[in-house]
Amino acid sequence: MKPGAFGYRRAESAEDAVRLFLEVGEGAQYLAGGQSLMATLNFRVSEAGTLIDLTRIESLKGIEQRGNAIHIGALTTHASVARSSLVRKRLPLIAEAYVHVAHPAIRNRGTIGGSIALGDPASEMPACMLALDAVIHANGPAGKRSIPIDDFYLGLYETALEEGELLTGIEIPLPAEGARHGFEEIARRHGDYAMAGLAVMTTGRRARMAYFAISDRALRSTAAEDAFVSGASPAECAEVATREMYVFGDLNASENMKRHLAGVLMRRVLLSLDGGASA
Ligand SMILES: Cc1cc2nc3c(=O)[nH]c(=O)nc-3n(C[C@H](O)[C@H](O)[C@H](O)COP(=O)(O)OP(=O)(O)OC[C@H]3O[C@@H](n4cnc5c(N)ncnc54)[C@H](O)[C@@H]3O)c2cc1C
Repeated sequence: MKPGAFGYRRAESAEDAVRLFLEVGEGAQYLAGGQSLMATLNFRVSEAGTLIDLTRIESLKGIEQRGNAIHIGALTTHASVARSSLVRKRLPLIAEAYVHVAHPAIRNRGTIGGSIALGDPASEMPACMLALDAVIHANGPAGKRSIPIDDFYLGLYETALEEGELLTGIEIPLPAEGARHGFEEIARRHGDYAMAGLAVMTTGRRARMAYFAISDRALRSTAAEDAFVSGASPAECAEVATREMYVFGDLNASENMKRHLAGVLMRRVLLSLDGGASA
């Protein structure tokens, strides 16, 4: 199918993008890799008055270490993040998760910022950002601000970004010495959106455990984290997560199936940590 008619503006910088968004007004929408947006426009599930193309904004691309954190520009493609030696070495959770994100053609155009801003509940990156305790940087009509990832996802495709606010980058604190990570996802076919998935970071007895494709958004199981910190076994943590998790069924799996998979994933990931998968 083809999309309805829409206008097109190309932004040269983050500030220019926000200015264009305000100038266009109603119907303005940012375009990053277009891998989700163009599909919904083509299927006429959504419509845009004018697309504001972000893809030429070079200052929003790239990955670098800044002090004790890794900064990833919002317009960095999935493929660039996945093959970054810095990411592979210092943030192996992300590199591991990327094996499961879509297919090469989509990873070549889709961006990490687009994925995080869209907030698809079945996407891998939002859960990884929760596990890694990332900070989201944004620039909008009211200026620049930083949003802790714990405050970012509010509901189904709903984030803390305000109207016209552009996600400019992601800051990920470097995991502490001795940190361990675990990642598991269950999908019908490799590259499909997940039926259920879990990303975990632990340091000593501290833990951040974030599910995706289980709820209406990427969501931590703080109950399982607390159980882990108190020394509960993987089976006990799985039992707690299964019982406490807010589960939301979708086309890929019913609520009951997802609740069951939440427990399976928790057990698998925590056992893999005990097997010594070090971050
Ligand atoms: C067949 C298929 C399979 C896929 N499988 C997976 C998968 O397994 N896992 C997965 O995670 N994803 C998957 N995707 C989605 C893919 O990862 C997209 O790249 C991603 O969801 C959106 O990134 P994008 O850069 O293409 O954003 P776009 O499609 O351009 O934009 C998506 C939305 O985010 C907004 N947006 C984009 N960038 C910004 C920004 N910087 N600031 C504010 N708002 C912004 C846009 O306005 C739009 O509303 C799949 C896509 C397809 C077509």
